[in-house]
Amino acid sequence: MDIHAYTADFLEAQEKKDPGQKVFLQAVKEVVSTLHPVLEQNPVYIKEKILERLVEPERIISFRVPWQDDKGEIHVNRGYRVQFNSAIGPYKGGIRFHTSVTQDSLKFLAFEQTFKNSLTTLPLGGGKGGSDFDARGKSDGEVMRFCHSFMNELYRHIGYHTDVPAGDLGCGAREIGYMYGQYKKLTDVFTGTFTGKKPNWGGSLLRPEATGYGVAYFTQNMLATKNDSVKGKTCIVSGTGNVGVHAIEKLTELGGKVVGFMDYDGSVYDKDGVDAEKLAFLKDLVFVRRGSLKEYVKKFPKAEFRPGKKTWDIPCNIACPTACENELHGDDAKTLLKNGCKCVCEGSNMPCTPEAIEAFQAAGILYSPGKASNAGGVAVSGLEMTQNSMRLYWTREEVDQYLHRIMNSIHNSCLEAAEMYGMKGNYMAGANIAGFKKVADSMLDQGLV
Ligand code: GLU
Repeated sequence: MDIHAYTADFLEAQEKKDPGQKVFLQAVKEVVSTLHPVLEQNPVYIKEKILERLVEPERIISFRVPWQDDKGEIHVNRGYRVQFNSAIGPYKGGIRFHTSVTQDSLKFLAFEQTFKNSLTTLPLGGGKGGSDFDARGKSDGEVMRFCHSFMNELYRHIGYHTDVPAGDLGCGAREIGYMYGQYKKLTDVFTGTFTGKKPNWGGSLLRPEATGYGVAYFTQNMLATKNDSVKGKTCIVSGTGNVGVHAIEKLTELGGKVVGFMDYDGSVYDKDGVDAEKLAFLKDLVFVRRGSLKEYVKKFPKAEFRPGKKTWDIPCNIACPTACENELHGDDAKTLLKNGCKCVCEGSNMPCTPEAIEAFQAAGILYSPGKASNAGGVAVSGLEMTQNSMRLYWTREEVDQYLHRIMNSIHNSCLEAAEMYGMKGNYMAGANIAGFKKVADSMLDQGLV
């Protein structure tokens, strides 16, 4: 069989099925483009229509979320949960609250999550949920009423052994608290049905830091393959949400100098790099006061604020995109390469466009896809589930050791799978193949369901 013809037909059929689902199709295309040797050596995947089955979510739930603002005005948002694949464990993945949320974006995220969760070594299926709700500028009361309304429907579809949501963009500990509270009220059970909970009511220590720390560990692992390290390297991190700020923290701890980062208003260029004092300010600004990075340059005037500008023109050795999908374009990749960037480690989901990835791979620099390098967050979510099951807590150090071990294991799986299928050093191919094989083989074992 001509595998290239088979995958071309497969992709064409997908495009016909969901013509408007651009990011989902982009994610599927990327995965399929790396699976040719796997399909060639395992024709059973073709015979059993594993690809066709894998791209079809097991279930999508879409629902109305009505809520009242502080003035008594009524608003209606749309809520979703995409339960993508449960072959290796209960659906697991975050909840995104952002104006950009659509069924397309959540299908893409749930698809990526399926592979990412498979790579973590833990028994986690793939899912994702969210709403087009924008928490920015809303009072705590408004956010609470929205979250309660969201949960009034979602509670019947999730559960400790069924589907375990967590946070994502626009959904942090505050939102998880409100959702979990309502979930508990409606079901009358105290279980680990959510992760990303606060430690005093069931959360794991180090969960907030896990994705960002994992990105830094993965960067360190990639550089080690070139007998190099983060120490002394200039770094940029794009987003300054939960992932970005903790990536800045760990990269700095590993001896890197983080000189660029950004938020919705623009980017900061801080030539001297972030130190402990600046990091403490940044954490308070982002997590407590939810303020703008403009305040960072007021406090540290040697840094420059660049309104509406991204970070990618700032010279660096290491770049970690940590904001959102397709945030780093082909032109940005060329600028990074021209300025000497040698390592791109994705902290968000699919932040680099296909053109950008192509440019990095053609230049032969280190490049890792988010489904491998940002898996630390969901990995510690898996550890939170374990602790909840055992009804005990691990120390920060214990969780960090597990996280470190899991990131090492993901790194090795990517390298081994890439090499085994003739694509040595290609982290994207390695992540897709290793993630795919575990899920695909489990689907085969479980028959046509
Ligand atoms: N939203 C995070 C991710 O993209 C975490 C999901 C989780 O902890 O379940 O992986």
